[in-house]
Amino acid sequence: MARRRIYGVETEYGLVATVDGRRLPADEAGTRLFAPVAHRHATTNLFHRAGGRLYLDIGAHPEYATPECASASDLVTAQRAGDALLLALAADAEALEAEEGRATTFRLVRNNVDPYGNTWGSHENYLVGRSTDPRVLSDWLVPFLVSRLLVGGAGHWRRGRFALSQRGDVLADVVSNQTTRSRPLINTRDEPHADPERHRRLHVISGDTNCLEHPMWLVVVATELVLRRAESGGTPPVGPVDPLGALRTWNRDPDAGVASSSGGVVTARGLQRAYLAATQDQADDADETGPGWRAWRDLLDALDAGRPSGAEWDAKRRTIEAWRDRHGLADADPRLDALDLRWHELGLGADGQPRGLAARFQARHGVRHTTDAAVVAATRTAPGETRARVRGALLAAAQDARRDHAADWSSFEVRDLPGPDGRGPATVRLELPDPFDPAVPEASDLVSRMGAEPRLRALGGFVPPPG
Ligand code: ATP
Ligand code: MG
Ligand code: MG
Repeated sequence: MARRRIYGVETEYGLVATVDGRRLPADEAGTRLFAPVAHRHATTNLFHRAGGRLYLDIGAHPEYATPECASASDLVTAQRAGDALLLALAADAEALEAEEGRATTFRLVRNNVDPYGNTWGSHENYLVGRSTDPRVLSDWLVPFLVSRLLVGGAGHWRRGRFALSQRGDVLADVVSNQTTRSRPLINTRDEPHADPERHRRLHVISGDTNCLEHPMWLVVVATELVLRRAESGGTPPVGPVDPLGALRTWNRDPDAGVASSSGGVVTARGLQRAYLAATQDQADDADETGPGWRAWRDLLDALDAGRPSGAEWDAKRRTIEAWRDRHGLADADPRLDALDLRWHELGLGADGQPRGLAARFQARHGVRHTTDAAVVAATRTAPGETRARVRGALLAAAQDARRDHAADWSSFEVRDLPGPDGRGPATVRLELPDPFDPAVPEASDLVSRMGAEPRLRALGGFVPPPG
């Protein structure tokens, strides 16, 4: 039987807001982007009826955390739906600005670094069993993650230097309970958002966000294969003595040999091959790990042969180098840095074409792991195989009936229900400790008690229409 896992990804977006050509400071850009949400919900931190969480952090990067997903392809769909929700929010915010007499435009990019070298995160979440020893997981994961940039690096062209990953140079710790100060590969803060007796939430924070669907999907499936392998015991491949040093070295050259903990030498390419071999027995054609394992092998084969591999860093580098050669530019020409940023832009331009070079590449050459129709549906309805579906139905009912409510990943509360004796208000709190459970009878009862059936209808923009 296929094993079950919950996946979620948190993505911080890059945002540029301009008013009549003048660029707004980052915190003001964020505040104005969130104005339509703040007007309606009196907060800039809320769950959406599609199951995810939208949030404006102090760093002024809008963040979208996808709902819990039961497969990597659902996660690709949810990530794309998050992009669409943020673009809809930007359109709402532009309309609000226009009402107030300002010609403001918002541009969103999905990457992890700005032209000044500031970086921000994209965090992967994997549900693991409480009984699995976290040290065993990190023994398996650390060498994998520092070499995973070959598969999941988004590429970074800056002043004529190319790096495979945008995050590779800034990570400063291997395992820690911090996310921003020490920037580890794996964050160990123990917040399972689920029954703590049974589950842990593994928080991988070393990766780049990918705009191309194939590497977005493959990163998750390859990590799934490694997790399954770790959960079934045995000894991991021999990794580098200094994982973070290796990461920085491989970020420039994945074939550079670094000292291994067995006294030999390892390369990123060699390590990825070792993990591929070690996980072959976990690949299962009953789920995504069968095709995923073969796609991983094909990507490494293509890199060995110097063919286009579909990795985002590889596609980006080929695109920028072709442009450089066509226009006879020097490597350090700042126009090439601008192309790097344009790779990650979201949304359509005035000509109706995607602004982002990645989106154009995806349309022409990219392997797909979702459909446009599925993405549109995922902006309105939560994934059907997890607890997110319950949260979405509760939120829709509460919003449509204008109930005072509060949502979290593992609970939902309504505060203004009629009391049992007909007097109120009464508060009802529902715990949702099982992230795999898409149908909770008490939740259906609560939906009825809220006095409105959930109306999961088309949303015009980000903000749900009045009930
Ligand atoms: P913060 O980012 O504010 O520090 P956080 O890490 O709790 O807090 P959120 O931004 O709220 O993160 O996002 C949580 C992510 O974890 C979401 O993508 C969600 O789908 C996912 N998730 C929720 N419950 C689980 C679970 N039990 N196992 C794995 N992933 C989960
Ligand atoms: Mg978060
Ligand atoms: Mg987080």
